[in-house]
Amino acid sequence: MVKNEAYSFHMEDKMVTKIDQSSKQYCVTGMKCNKCGNVFPEAPIYQCPNCKQPGLDVLYDYVSISNYKNKDSLLLSENTMWRYGNFLPCKETPSVGKYVGMTPLSEAPNLARKIGAQKLYIKDDSVNRPTLSYKDRVVAVAFNKAIEFGFEVFGCVSTGNVSNSVAAFAASINKPCNVIVPDGTEKGKLIGSVIYGANLIKVNGSYDDANRLCKEISKEVPIAFINVNMRSYYSEGAKTIIYEIAEQMGWRLPKHIVLPLAGGTLVIKAAKAIRELRELGLIDRSPVKLYGAQAAGSSPIAVAFANGTDEIIPVKPNTIARSLAIGNPGDGPIALEAIRSTNGFVGSVTDEEIIDGISLLASSEGIFPEASGGATVGLTKKLLQTGVIPNEDEVVTVVSGNGYKTPDPVLNRVAGILEIENNLDSLRNSLKT
Ligand SMILES: *Cc1c(COP(=O)(O)O)cnc(C)c1O
Ligand SMILES: [Zn+2]
Repeated sequence: MVKNEAYSFHMEDKMVTKIDQSSKQYCVTGMKCNKCGNVFPEAPIYQCPNCKQPGLDVLYDYVSISNYKNKDSLLLSENTMWRYGNFLPCKETPSVGKYVGMTPLSEAPNLARKIGAQKLYIKDDSVNRPTLSYKDRVVAVAFNKAIEFGFEVFGCVSTGNVSNSVAAFAASINKPCNVIVPDGTEKGKLIGSVIYGANLIKVNGSYDDANRLCKEISKEVPIAFINVNMRSYYSEGAKTIIYEIAEQMGWRLPKHIVLPLAGGTLVIKAAKAIRELRELGLIDRSPVKLYGAQAAGSSPIAVAFANGTDEIIPVKPNTIARSLAIGNPGDGPIALEAIRSTNGFVGSVTDEEIIDGISLLASSEGIFPEASGGATVGLTKKLLQTGVIPNEDEVVTVVSGNGYKTPDPVLNRVAGILEIENNLDSLRNSLKT
């Protein structure tokens, strides 16, 4: 069990005294082990130097962050996720991924009507830049940090989206890049790495197998594996999705936020971002419940949640939602704690419900998500229909990836395509008016 003290900090006075323009500050004070609580200086490592366990958090000096005149001066002027640079662990302005974040938060009235919500928004990371998934956020933070640490070669282990992002950023600064993916990674994601010139390595095994190999090799070679040895920085980038939702709603959050849940990074850092925004006085303390959407074919965290335990029993994933196919999530217990501490819920959706979610969102709002977005929409629908989320409450559902990369689950829809003769009558007769 991880205690919230891991993230706690003190502030005497939220109405601050120092008068300043918004400017970049570097407020990281060190790293803290989630397991034994050991605090130590920043380093590109994923295991605690004391207890050798994975799971390190980045610590900030929130007092100096808050030492500003007003809300707006906490933020930088960029209209990207870098406007929250004072709460991120990068010293300099970014040299890769300058345009990441500030994706749309769009009202979804048509989908709301179909699934029984009164006020529903989509936080749409399917149009994140440059590689169309939430992973651009996490990778951008870790990649810039790796440059800061002096790395010259980059890499990652990935179910696809991370590798696309790492490969794109490496290309943008002309550096070598090794991406390691499991068996079964979709073509649309493989091409998204190869086209940028990355050295693509497909392991004959699952994501969990590839991850284990990558952890081992990261001890031997001077490569910044963005989500392995750079993992604590990587995961910090996920906070920005919550900062953006809060700012886009006028510095408040909805009562319910539905997030995809695989390794647990997004859920864990969403909870951290909410605590930070409250402590900094940027939002009030009204309750916000977090919900994690897993795929039924890879749902070890949902199972533990249902059983009321902290013990995650690893599974062999079998789902169309490849980006959610993590059968042995190392941060599972922390993700559970993050969700339980908000009185939220972890649920799972079947492949059929995922496909239904994809087409519902696409046909009602014009947003084509990848399977993980089908999962969050599918879970949102279930939570509304079972009354876990009351219909009158505001809900934000996060869509974390783009359907154009991975059309396979819905490709059979083009089978029934209408074909006509090459003449005006045929065309006239086939129109819907
Ligand atoms: C990685 C990924 C997820 C899962 O996020 P975690 O932070 O590992 O729980 C969800 N959706 C997409 C599109 C992803 O690429
Ligand atoms: Zn430790």
